[in-house]
Amino acid sequence: MINGKSANVVVLGGGFGGLEAAFYLRMKLGDRANISLVSDRDYFLFKPNTIYIPFGLDPDKLKVDLKRPTHRRNITLIKDRVREIDPDAKKVGMEGRTLTYDHLIVATGSDMRPEEIPGLRENAQTIWTPREMLRLRLAFYDLLEKAREGEHRRVLFLVAPNNKCAGPLYELVFMLDTWLRRKKVRANVDLTWSTYEQSYIQAFGPRLHDVVTGEFERRVIAGHTGFAAERVEPGAVHYQNGEILPYDLLVTFSPYVAEVAYPTLPGDERGFVETNLASRQVVGHPDIYAVGDAGNFPVKQAFLAFLQADAAAEHLSARILGTEPETAFEPTSMCVMEQFDKATFAQVPLRLTGVPEKPIEVDPEALEAYKVGSYAAWRLGKKALGYYLPFRFALGNPFHAGVPWKGMEAGLKVMSGLMAK
Ligand SMILES: Cc1cc2nc3c(=O)[nH]c(=O)nc-3n(C[C@H](O)[C@H](O)[C@H](O)COP(=O)(O)OP(=O)(O)OC[C@H]3O[C@@H](n4cnc5c(N)ncnc54)[C@H](O)[C@@H]3O)c2cc1C
Repeated sequence: MINGKSANVVVLGGGFGGLEAAFYLRMKLGDRANISLVSDRDYFLFKPNTIYIPFGLDPDKLKVDLKRPTHRRNITLIKDRVREIDPDAKKVGMEGRTLTYDHLIVATGSDMRPEEIPGLRENAQTIWTPREMLRLRLAFYDLLEKAREGEHRRVLFLVAPNNKCAGPLYELVFMLDTWLRRKKVRANVDLTWSTYEQSYIQAFGPRLHDVVTGEFERRVIAGHTGFAAERVEPGAVHYQNGEILPYDLLVTFSPYVAEVAYPTLPGDERGFVETNLASRQVVGHPDIYAVGDAGNFPVKQAFLAFLQADAAAEHLSARILGTEPETAFEPTSMCVMEQFDKATFAQVPLRLTGVPEKPIEVDPEALEAYKVGSYAAWRLGKKALGYYLPFRFALGNPFHAGVPWKGMEAGLKVMSGLMAK
């Protein structure tokens, strides 16, 4: 309560970070806050499973309508596009209206900027939106047809500099390999991998690198690290190290930028909002929090968005209730990497280094929590998440909080004890 009135909390963005924060706040605060959620679309998109679209999944299966859960939790849903924040007047400017707030949570996510590499947008299949994944489906089916006709094709995968979440592209190369083998045409397709990073999935440390190296050998995929793309022309990518790699089909994960730039808030050169690590408060603006991809944490992941949203919502609830926060953001990433014939689980405790060239590393003081394992059974874990998470949001519940998550966490602990080390 502020001066005996309910606090007025506005959440920007209806993705992982925004929904988790809004539902967590309602769970903690009951009717002690008026909560508004602003989103430019009226559904939540379960982005991690868009990797299945190129292989046939209907994108509509990944959407959760926002009207029911927000109504159920007495959260005012405003469908509009955020334009700007005036932190002095405590106002958010949208296309259609202006809103005032006591507390603000920014969770408008990130976007892609393939234009940073000349020729990339024109020549590559990009991965980001369901529409792009549908376009990739056509390219994969075209590849399959040509390979079946006996033509030899070269597919080149490219992680572009300033990409901040390369995992999904690794999933796609492994899935494509398994898919082509099952279609019995793999012999007609060369698969090549190139990344600007010095090791595979660099932020996740040596164990993930070793798993990927082993998979590339087993699957006969030529891998190149330290290959930063400079320019792309039809049929060939030129790298900063002078190397040139040819392709018939180029699939890329582009450089990241913030989806919405907020010039009135402190941010880095890509528009990501500068935050206090633990509480997610925006530097110099204690009433504004930034969670998920929109903030300046160097790795962009849904699981990290949850942890950040919970930390921000917990911090804000405690302020409103006059208590102490029970949790803060501790960056331990968790992910399951699909490969169709198996999946790789990784739990990675992370630490900021302060070094711009390598801003993040595996926390050397928490190595007992660093776990990696590859088994077919991990595919069930990925499937379970794909059902459970949208189900939680459809009911207006936070995913990563409360008793059900405790149960899920216990299950994961058992699984990772048996199938990861
Ligand atoms: C193909 C792919 C696979 C992935 N796989 C994984 C995975 O396996 N595991 C994992 O942890 N992460 C994965 N990620 C990353 C993950 O999806 C993102 O890190 C996550 O979506 C970030 O959550 P967010 O809430 O910050 O942003 P988002 O989920 O992108 O949500 C942002 C929200 O803000 C809204 N919005 C944007 N602009 C405006 C505006 N101007 N006004 C109003 N609303 C706006 C959007 O509509 C959206 O609802 C994957 C990403 C991709 C692309």
